[in-house]
Amino acid sequence: MIRLTESSATANQATVNPEHSLAAAEALFLSLGDGAIVTDEAGRVSRINKVALLLLGYSAKELVGRWYPDAVVAENEDGNRIPNWERPITQVFLEGKSISARVYYRRKDGSRMATFLTVSPVMLDSKPIGAIEVFRDITNEVELEKTKDEFISLASHQLRTPATGVKQYVGMLLEGYAGTITSQQRQLLKNAYESNERQLTIVSDLLRVAHIDAGKVRLVRQRVDLVQLIQDVIDGLNNVFKRRYQEVNFVHPKTTVTAEIDVDRIRMVIENIVDNASKYTPEGKNLEVTLRQRPSCVEIEVKDEGVGIPRRDINKMFQKFSRLNNPLSQLVGGTGLGLYWAKRIIDLHEGEITVSSKVGKGSVFTISIPV
Ligand code: ADP
Repeated sequence: MIRLTESSATANQATVNPEHSLAAAEALFLSLGDGAIVTDEAGRVSRINKVALLLLGYSAKELVGRWYPDAVVAENEDGNRIPNWERPITQVFLEGKSISARVYYRRKDGSRMATFLTVSPVMLDSKPIGAIEVFRDITNEVELEKTKDEFISLASHQLRTPATGVKQYVGMLLEGYAGTITSQQRQLLKNAYESNERQLTIVSDLLRVAHIDAGKVRLVRQRVDLVQLIQDVIDGLNNVFKRRYQEVNFVHPKTTVTAEIDVDRIRMVIENIVDNASKYTPEGKNLEVTLRQRPSCVEIEVKDEGVGIPRRDINKMFQKFSRLNNPLSQLVGGTGLGLYWAKRIIDLHEGEITVSSKVGKGSVFTISIPV
């Protein structure tokens, strides 16, 4: 937020020639390497720098004095026009704080440009007197991101077929299709089978992420009982808990707790978070899963007594391929894709995942889904 006060203006006047400081501010504004647009409190363009004009393809005459959301069309990723009241420049007046967003602008010639922008209100004595938007062209970055996503998708599709073939052949050898095998051969084949399973898990994680990144996930909602769903997840992971000598306590209301969700995908989200809670908790410690019915949402809390997460890493954890270094990460393995995918799925349900944690004491992951 940019804050001007009457007193700071007076203080400046005592030491600096106001004409000089104005000229310096003007020069700074005009020479910014990014596009910059200043509006008044009604959202009308009052100043615009050369880079902004160059990027948008307009002349200053065509924009100055016009209501900015009307003058320059903004779209979201899918190509839908962002309604004027949802434009960052409008929101900034409502919220009174800076907003950063990825927005696609239509240039004067109709072509589309991906931008990353930050809009800040300009405040004078706690009242907004206008806004400043600074934006840069990120078309190349977006293209590169798309190419990378396509590569991941293609490579994982190509990898899946031969890896599935290996699974079938090793499975056949283990079942004795090619004759009796010695116990030593059996052990080696079992190792091969498990390595191949891990490989297939990585490939399917990559495919799931590529699918959601390509915007191809459409939720298939149906009303289900979450008590039953969570119980199923816990039962399905029973061997995992046994192997680590962990007990899981499931706390839930006596009645059913229903929600309209994409069952298969939410099941995978819960599975991932409960599995993580087990993975990042030492053997012999316990987990607790709690289901709560709130007035406007359902809440699933997964609490562990594990290694914990440093505060600075909490947001990082939800990024693609992000694996944090902790005392168990080498031992348990993983792709760093589970939480990224889980958050995207919860976002599609308009819900939220929050985390609180203490290093060495444990973590609490809470998923809330509006009902
Ligand atoms: P991974 O496949 O590595 O488990 P995730 O995306 O599921 O990938 O998790 C990302 C990282 O977040 C993990 O590598 C781990 O460092 C950290 N993490 C996730 N859950 C927990 C937890 N319950 N306790 C401590 N660290 C966790």
